[in-house]
Amino acid sequence: MNPHEQRGKAPETAYAFLEGKFVPLHEAKISIMTHAFLYGSGVFEGIRAYYNSANDEVYVLKLIEHYTRMRNNAHILMMEITQSAQHLAELTCEMIRKCGYREDVYIRPMAYKSAQRIGLKWDKNHEFMMFAVPMGSYLTKERPLNCMVSSWRRIQDNAIPPRAKVSGSYVNVSLAANEARENGYDEGLLLNEDGSVSEAAGMNIFLVRSGHLITTPVYDNVLEGITRACVFEIAKDLGIPYEERSMNRSELYASDEVFICGTGAEISGVGSIDRRQIGDGKTGPVTNKIQDVFFDAVRGNNPKYKNWLTPVWHR
Ligand code: PMP
Repeated sequence: MNPHEQRGKAPETAYAFLEGKFVPLHEAKISIMTHAFLYGSGVFEGIRAYYNSANDEVYVLKLIEHYTRMRNNAHILMMEITQSAQHLAELTCEMIRKCGYREDVYIRPMAYKSAQRIGLKWDKNHEFMMFAVPMGSYLTKERPLNCMVSSWRRIQDNAIPPRAKVSGSYVNVSLAANEARENGYDEGLLLNEDGSVSEAAGMNIFLVRSGHLITTPVYDNVLEGITRACVFEIAKDLGIPYEERSMNRSELYASDEVFICGTGAEISGVGSIDRRQIGDGKTGPVTNKIQDVFFDAVRGNNPKYKNWLTPVWHR
């Protein structure tokens, strides 16, 4: 099996949470008539937890923030999640302990329309599920990504709100991600219908120009990324000026540095876009500085950012 197919697989002993209880992951099944399966009507999160071997601890990154975003997003699909973000956070830690994970993991919770019948209109029924799988770093700092601007356009707020993290809407970024891979690139970048830059396929995008950080604004059809907010916080602490504003495609090529960020991709430097080298083709100095703080913070090695983390084992 190649590494791509291996990624994100769960061990036999893993547990999931489904319809109010913990069940072995391999027994966690839903009906083929489920609305969310037929129509993509779920809202989900991707959450990372990092293992610190010195403390023998697993730290979940920005756990409450993820569940707060999920509860707000579920509301867009008229699902009111009755459990508080705190309660969902506690369930998540309990699940990781049940799985026995003492390694880096990726957690996938989803609130989904659970009615089992044909028909687009939403019933009141919805359920919550989650599982977690071991997952190491996306790519190393030494290996900047080769990206392409996708021929697919980013969905707009009035089609499927990108901020809502709706499961069905991920066909949009999958088309771009897959197109990139089929053409020999690492990742795809998506433009809006008006030609402005939106975000990468599953990550937010940052440029560095003359020492300033620039990222696309929330009204340019991006997910309001939690890693993006971490980058803002780090930039503030490092005294790096940052701004949110729209950008053209050609500004990508003309930048000193580009990086993409998200829970899965963490913070990854971009070495080229559409075969145009960015800077010297290596991960740039500003990106490096931000990465260093980020990777220390998420593993619990920087006390300043301890409030980003929820410990799983030593409560
Ligand atoms: N954009 C999209 C479309 C995403 O799916 C993600 C990953 N959740 C991101 C951006 C980054 O968001 P976050 O930092 O919250 O993971």
